[in-house]
Amino acid sequence: MKITVSVIKADVGGIGGHTKPSDGLLTAVRNIVKSQIIRNGKGLLIDSYIGYCGDDIHIVMTHTRGTDNREIHQLAWRAFESATQVAKNEGLYGAGQDLLKDSFSGNIKGMGPGVAEMTFDERPNEAFTIYAADKTEPGAFNYPFYRMFVDTLSNTGLIVNKNLAGGVKINVMDVEKGRIAQLQMWQDKPTLEAALMYPGRYVISSVYTRDNQPILSASTDRLHNIAGKYVGKDDPICIIRTQKDFPATEEVGSAFSNPHLVAGNTRGSHHMPLMPVKLNSPASINYAIPIVSALVFSMHNGRLVGPVDGFASADWDYVRQISVKRAIAIRSQGFVHPATLVPSELEYAEGYRARMNVLWNKMRPIPNSRDNQNQQKQQRPQHSTLQPSKPQSNRPQSTKPQNNRPKPNIQIQKSISQGHVQTSPDNMSQKTIKKIKKPRQAKILSALNTEEKKSAPREQK
Ligand code: MG
Ligand code: MG
Repeated sequence: MKITVSVIKADVGGIGGHTKPSDGLLTAVRNIVKSQIIRNGKGLLIDSYIGYCGDDIHIVMTHTRGTDNREIHQLAWRAFESATQVAKNEGLYGAGQDLLKDSFSGNIKGMGPGVAEMTFDERPNEAFTIYAADKTEPGAFNYPFYRMFVDTLSNTGLIVNKNLAGGVKINVMDVEKGRIAQLQMWQDKPTLEAALMYPGRYVISSVYTRDNQPILSASTDRLHNIAGKYVGKDDPICIIRTQKDFPATEEVGSAFSNPHLVAGNTRGSHHMPLMPVKLNSPASINYAIPIVSALVFSMHNGRLVGPVDGFASADWDYVRQISVKRAIAIRSQGFVHPATLVPSELEYAEGYRARMNVLWNKMRPIPNSRDNQNQQKQQRPQHSTLQPSKPQSNRPQSTKPQNNRPKPNIQIQKSISQGHVQTSPDNMSQKTIKKIKKPRQAKILSALNTEEKKSAPREQK
């Protein structure tokens, strides 16, 4: 029996900030979705589950209508619209923030909510896990996905499971250019690794077995649909089928046991570790540590059993402690990169630009710098009738006497056997300065050697 699992998620409001949805929001979503469970031949859905991770509500739906189905997407849209109305009535923060369009237009992709969908021939004992994250971006899943499907040190199943040992197909999306590439393991392994070095740009969107059975589908659609420019972060969600021909449920779950640094957090502008949390956890108000929860399901004829809370057992408390330690460590360096993201990935880029404009307006050429002199040369008219008088300078007027002679711009520390002697223009003789007037490296070193020979005995005294 072919079943489609659709997971659609959105943030339509949080209590007191970006924390969690209210009971009112969840009830509003539930009322709309549950009314479409098939009864007496009417309805769209075989089964559904509604929960949240941080401020994102996820709707899990099983049906037989395939992926990108208009009615299924519209149902989720209506549910989030209804919840938005509740969020407005309750005065929740960010009411309707992920509903970027005014009205539904056929497919929810590109309208704000995140979508992960998969259609497959249901196995007799179908098993899958949904990973839902908050306060981060789709690239946050790259590292655990790599551990699941490529890293044999993390997943022995890649060696002993015949199907996985043959290598999987991994689709990688370039979220800047809106393009996608299929990479075949194992021959494309180093190419995949090069792509995954920068999760802000290259994101794993789906994984298939060698014989095209779908294993993984992740929500990268929002990024894909608004491709061509940086569109910011979108809390990701994914479906991963497990057991038999696929990685074991535990091989997939344990890929989250090393809380790696991901982009997101407060103001979507920092790096912090991805912390596994229990189902339906609010976001942390400790600088919004990125979180991920695991919904472990069984399914038969489209009917769901579960979810088991994948990160509820005692061992994950220890992983949470590691996450907090790493979070405190990176926060200890405050705004200094890599605690903060690079400018192009800051969500509050406008505010940053406003600050930097003040700096740029105060910028002046560096007096006597080589670049400055070259610029002046280029700006000088080729056939000027003016007298070649004083060299032009943009620097502020100084009370010091002008010296137009190019100065050697060097400061080199070099060890000598008796200790460290700093050799700089200040302690050089005029003869040395003349020698390095044309600062070619060889001449500089030769000059410095001469200077050290003179100064070393003095240092010994
Ligand atoms: Mg929010
Ligand atoms: Mg969120």
